[in-house]
Amino acid sequence: MRRGPRTGLFCIVAVHSTVRGPSLGGCRMWTYDDNRAAIRDALRLSEGMTYKSAVAGLPLGGGKGVIVLHPGKPLDAKRRRAALLDFGETVERLGGSYVTAEDVGTSTRDMTVIAKATSHVSGLSRRAGGSGDPSPYTALGVLHAIEATVERAFDSASLRGRTIAVVGLGHVGLRVARLLAKAGARLVVADIDPTKRDEAERLGARWTTPAKAMIAAVDVLVPCALGGVLDHESVPQLQTPAVAGAANNQLAASDVADLLRERGVLWAPDFVANAGGIVNIAVELDPEGYDPDRATARVAGIGDTLRRIYDDAHTAGTTPLTAAMALAESNLRRA
Ligand code: NAD
Repeated sequence: MRRGPRTGLFCIVAVHSTVRGPSLGGCRMWTYDDNRAAIRDALRLSEGMTYKSAVAGLPLGGGKGVIVLHPGKPLDAKRRRAALLDFGETVERLGGSYVTAEDVGTSTRDMTVIAKATSHVSGLSRRAGGSGDPSPYTALGVLHAIEATVERAFDSASLRGRTIAVVGLGHVGLRVARLLAKAGARLVVADIDPTKRDEAERLGARWTTPAKAMIAAVDVLVPCALGGVLDHESVPQLQTPAVAGAANNQLAASDVADLLRERGVLWAPDFVANAGGIVNIAVELDPEGYDPDRATARVAGIGDTLRRIYDDAHTAGTTPLTAAMALAESNLRRA
């Protein structure tokens, strides 16, 4: 934790694990009630990154960065740039054990500013030789996860004619919806932002409210908005046999995984299904440099990883969450 000399704002970097490679995780620029809350967030998120990268078999550890903003004091452009340079300097001091990327509150363009203070930055624009916007790859990975899940739930991976509800049509959700429409799925979609409705109609999707989409009688539910949507109240109301989406931390608590299994709902662990963005970034570390075709091929591996997790869970009589954690831990031990 370091106080930025230009802005006086606190920069936090949490390095949870470097066992498989440099710790990688985005830089969150966010307002917190106090610094302890920001530290807790960085620690929790960095641990999540360790498991996400380990289960995907990437040569990366888990880390996370936070720039702590003061409540009610948004940054003007000049101070924002100064805060990013302060953060970049903090990253540089860690000598490569942490590599930053974009996250909530930061963008590809912000990474270009951070890169002026450190070389340990990923997710730069394609023009700057980086892997660019991760969302298309996250969406592609979610599509592979949906196919693997449909295959397990219905004995065929084909999405043609399947009814699928997508909740949240943001950077990832809208792209997932487009890929699903192209694959012939029948879509129900929802977002709290009514401006997304036109786009939904262009896809031939049926527009509804988020609350209704969550409990729609569909073949697959695809949460692509906020976390915590699956809990002891919402799961008993689900009318779908399968859930696979991009949203981070979908389970309000880990025992919700048991409830899903008891109710016969197949759940794709979020940190497996939404790893496409980090799989894409990891291609930047290849000795031959970033290549979009290699990234696309590697993202397809998410489907295979999930098939293995479903097999392991079936064999061990456990949940996909437990099987995914066991796979991540075994990959960490091996390293
Ligand atoms: P985004 O902010 O672009 O999109 C989120 C969308 O959800 C917005 O359109 C918003 O209006 C909508 N939304 C918010 N609350 C909602 C609600 N209660 N009901 C319905 N819609 C709601 O974010 P994104 O980049 O598309 O990410 C979506 C999710 O996927 C997040 O949980 C994110 O952490 C996760 N994720 C994203 C990436 C990535 O590459 N962008 C990678 C991994 C995980």
